[in-house]
Order: sequence, then C-alpha cells, then structure tokens
Amino acid sequence: MIQFEGVNKWYGDYHALQGIDATVARGEVVVVCGPSGSGKSTLIRTVNRLEEIQQGRILFDGQDVHAPSLDINKFRSRVGFVFQSFNLFPHLSVADNIMLAPTLVLGRGKAPARERAQQLLARVGLAAKADAYPGQLSGGQQQRVAIARALAMDPPAMLFDEPTSALDPEMVGEVLQVMKSLAREGMTMICVTHEMGFAREVADRVLFMDHGRIVETGTPSGFFEHPQSERAQRFLADLR
Ligand code: ATP
Ligand code: MG
Repeated sequence: MIQFEGVNKWYGDYHALQGIDATVARGEVVVVCGPSGSGKSTLIRTVNRLEEIQQGRILFDGQDVHAPSLDINKFRSRVGFVFQSFNLFPHLSVADNIMLAPTLVLGRGKAPARERAQQLLARVGLAAKADAYPGQLSGGQQQRVAIARALAMDPPAMLFDEPTSALDPEMVGEVLQVMKSLAREGMTMICVTHEMGFAREVADRVLFMDHGRIVETGTPSGFFEHPQSERAQRFLADLR
C-alpha cells in the first residue's frame, strides 16, 4: 500500500534520507524508531509530501505521491497524520474541529458530519466532549480528538509522528490505547514512536533508522531481543 523506492532527500547539502527502500502492506502496523536526527520525521513526512524528495519514488495505493500532476491538497486530506503537537483549532468546538475537513473537503452535509464526529468521539472515549473547546481538554484528550479528526476523512492509512512524546506520562496510555484499537481493526499505520511496549504489542514490523538509512528491520520480538547492528544494540541499551 505504501512503497518507498530508492528515496533520497537532501536539506540543502545535508543528505537526510539515503536510499530508502521499504514497503508497508495494507493493514500492516510499522513502527519507526531510531536516534534523534536519524530521519524518522522526514521519512513519514515524505509520504504525504509535507517534505519533497529529490530522488526515487513513493507510491501510496499505486499513486505516485511526488508526481507533479497529483492534486496535493486532496491527497493530503486523505492521509491521516497525527503530530506530536495536536494542532486543534482553539476557536472551534471539538465536534467542529472534527467536522471541518469532511464538510469543506468532502462536501458532507452538516448533520451526517456531526453524527460521524459523535461516533468517532465515542470511539476515542470522548463522547461527552463534543461541545467542549480544545483549551478545556487535557493533552491526552486533545490528542484523542486529533486522532478522531484524522479518522473523519476515512483515511486508508494513518501516520503518527511521536504522538505521545509531548504528553504527561499519565496521559500516554489513553492515547496508545486508541492507537492499539485502530491497529487491531486493521488500519494501515506507520508510527514513529519510542513506546516500545506499544511496538511489542501491536507492530508487525520495526524499522530502525540511523543517519538517514534504514539500518535494520524485523519483527518486534526479533528486533528487541536480538538486534543485529551494533547501532541498534546501543540505541536499545540507552532506552532501558
Ligand atoms: P527526532 O527524534 O529528534 O524527532 P528525527 O529522526 O525525526 O529526529 P528528522 O527531523 O527527520 O529526525 O531530521 C533528520 C535530519 O534532518 C536532522 O539532522 C535534522 O537536523 C535535519 N533536518 C530536518 N528538517 C530540516 C530542515 N527543514 N532543514 C534542514 N535540515 C533539517
Ligand atoms: Mg522527529
């Protein structure tokens, strides 16, 4: 469903992605980990063209993401992306945050969009918060709204860039719980995260990056118990 073929990216003369080849199958959950600055965010941001690439190809459902002819706004609105910072619109209620893109981009009517927002809020455990404003919610609640907002566009895949790393520790679990349930329902997911418990429990595969390359890839148990590269061994030792 998502294919990276010989992807290279430079920021000026800094070679940030160095020959990335990878495939994510439909329904697969892939966790990307690696040291700071290794290119994890850059990698997932190329998938919905938040970052341009200079060489290679990225296919999403057979579509060449970096083709000049692609309608980028339409495409981007269909790929769920959840960031470390939740970026909700502070002046809109929770329900209105979730309804905004479906009504504006997909042309859904207000009533069905509201109904769907309500269903999604129930799914992330926030059924009672439809009329609250983001500022009235905790960080963990806001991040769950951000996930519901992404899901409202019925994305075929979801990308997560360290969705729990800005949260207070007691709120991490509730967000991971929502991500786990999505994974179990068969959502295709690429998650940049250092939550190794999450990776062990739901990832089909772990990609370990260092210096713009995928250095190692394996099942969670293979990777965590028997990392092959010295770099991954050191990385895991530092996490513990
Ligand atoms: P972290 O774990 O800290 O989030 P990361 O693995 O996500 O790190 P990236 O943000 O992808 O790393 O950055 C990879 C490299 O590219 C880093 O050396 C970074 O300094 C550089 N880089 C990232 N964005 C830019 C930019 N807009 N311009 C120039 N260099 C950049
Ligand atoms: Mg990053």
